[in-house]
Amino acid sequence: MNAESTYLDHAATTPVDPEVIQAMVPYFSEEFGNPSSIHQRGQRANAALETARTSLADSLGCRPSEIVFTSCGSESNNLAIRGAAIAGRQRRGASHILSSPVEHPAVLETVKRLDQGLGFDIEMLPVDKYGVVSPADVAARLRPETALVSVMYANNEIGTLNPIPEIAAACRAQGIPFHTDAVQAAAFMALNVSSLGVDLLSLSAHKFYGPKGVGVLFVREGIPLEPIQTGGSQEAGLRAGTQNVPLIVGMATALALARQDTAHNAAHVSALRDRIIGGVLDRIADVQLTGHPTARLPNHASFVLQDVDAGQLLAALDLEGFACSSGSACHAGITEPSQTLLALGIPAEWALGSLRVTVGKTTTSDEVDRFLNSLEASVRRIRGGSGSA
Ligand code: PLP
Repeated sequence: MNAESTYLDHAATTPVDPEVIQAMVPYFSEEFGNPSSIHQRGQRANAALETARTSLADSLGCRPSEIVFTSCGSESNNLAIRGAAIAGRQRRGASHILSSPVEHPAVLETVKRLDQGLGFDIEMLPVDKYGVVSPADVAARLRPETALVSVMYANNEIGTLNPIPEIAAACRAQGIPFHTDAVQAAAFMALNVSSLGVDLLSLSAHKFYGPKGVGVLFVREGIPLEPIQTGGSQEAGLRAGTQNVPLIVGMATALALARQDTAHNAAHVSALRDRIIGGVLDRIADVQLTGHPTARLPNHASFVLQDVDAGQLLAALDLEGFACSSGSACHAGITEPSQTLLALGIPAEWALGSLRVTVGKTTTSDEVDRFLNSLEASVRRIRGGSGSA
């Protein structure tokens, strides 16, 4: 990426807010203590850890004891799914898991391994053409032996939002634990776990202007969970390993900042998103919006373009100074069409031309306008010559 490149890939990761960096610095240097140590340096590190835990709990509307620190969103998803599946089987012989075919690989690969290696019965919920899971479909598939339901809050590739409170209510009515991967939702969406009604919720700091390599799993009190990383008694025995104090302090600061300005930031990015969607649909032929037209992340625009190779388009845009992506960053470099797009019924030849444009709180309308011009020109070049873009 050249220095002056315009960053339109905030679903992949976000820059760390300067205030977050400042909050972390002391815990990389003079306050380096291990929060489990008895001495004063350890006590100070522990105080910072517990202050961060309280702050995160305030941001989520839960108790500090319901916050488990992890190393990333993927680990949070693994702990939620493996932990609840194993606990469900141990305590009540439950071995059925419901999830959706458009989840992030951190969920999909995890349930696949529970199926193949450990004999769990994995059932995929239907999704509509926008990738939405229906609460009625969840309710109809719950069984007494369901160990867990896992449905994402916001889709990373297509931006679609799921009706999480309604899905959670269906699960609660049957006493089945419900997990949501809220990694993409954290920057701009409501995150109060009581209003959402969820039992388990995964977050990753680098998606909301915090550092990479640190995440949270919210675990509602009373929800049985087995640890997947064992050792010391950190995180109430749910996740062994010395906590990464600087990154945790940064994550708590970043989430508090995001929660302060959620409405303002969401209004800013949704105006830009709508400008992108309108501009692309107006100016480019043979293009389709992917994901839900309105129930979508406020900063997320995603498309498929016929007769355009996504890799070629991303390279062309990069040369023009725009950093975007095709589907999920986790698929970068892989040329097969995205499984998510195929699960929505999008034909493979269209799915090969996918484009994801995700704006951030500092993106400007001028940047969006320049992006639309470059996109139009790049698509015209790729499709060959002077015809329609
Ligand atoms: N879940 C979703 C929806 C994501 O978009 C991502 C990252 O792209 C993850 C989970 C994984 O998060 P992490 O990169 O922190 O492991």
